Amino acid sequence: MNDRELLRYNRHILLPQIDIEGQEKICAARCLIIGLGGLGSPAAMYLAASGVGELILVDDDHVDESNLQRQIVHNENRLQVNKAESARQQLLALNSMIQVQTFARRLDDSELREHIKSADVVLDCSDNFSTRKQVNRLCVDESVPLVSGAAVRFEGQLTVIDKREQTNPCYQCLYEDVGEENLSCSQNGVLAPVVGIVGTSQALEALKIICELNDVLTGVLALFDGKANRWRYLNFNKNKNCKVCA
Ligand SMILES: [Zn+2]
Repeated sequence: MNDRELLRYNRHILLPQIDIEGQEKICAARCLIIGLGGLGSPAAMYLAASGVGELILVDDDHVDESNLQRQIVHNENRLQVNKAESARQQLLALNSMIQVQTFARRLDDSELREHIKSADVVLDCSDNFSTRKQVNRLCVDESVPLVSGAAVRFEGQLTVIDKREQTNPCYQCLYEDVGEENLSCSQNGVLAPVVGIVGTSQALEALKIICELNDVLTGVLALFDGKANRWRYLNFNKNKNCKVCA
């Protein structure tokens, strides 16, 4: 790390759990972020500010005025701009020392697999079950840690899938019986800070994984209740009959 980086990341380096060694891991890390909406906005901004060396952003959608109520990586000057591109501009304005690569389209299995393989951590910030299941399946195949988040109305949820340890459960183990229907924010609404809390927590888990810290939410479903401003935690196990990871 050069002098400028040592100064810039000083408040991380002061933490004994991070130190220079941890910050070097963060600066060398590559994170793949799927979706630059309400969850991806704070997740990407905190990872960029933290100095994650390379961010790969995937989103096929464009910025709409109704997104600005919660998708804080975008702004009024970038309406109709692709969300990955809009986010790239904001993230590089925040931290010019990082690299940001964008994909303004949905990636098919083989492309997504290549980017997952090359990532240290994947953040699923998408808003639909089909993408979540696709990302889970590929992260399981490639044994790359996945931080999965979701939020709607006043409720959020968060979990970490880490199949570097084969006994850990995957997303499919948790949602085997759930159909393809989505509880979308566009139809049900969402209170802005709820997506902020979940997306920020995704960045926190990603940094803990990169720095190899303990107490990552692997096998734990964290449920956020915004009305009470309270988290609950449910443990879940690997499903022996899971279609994806058994
Ligand atoms: Zn599974």
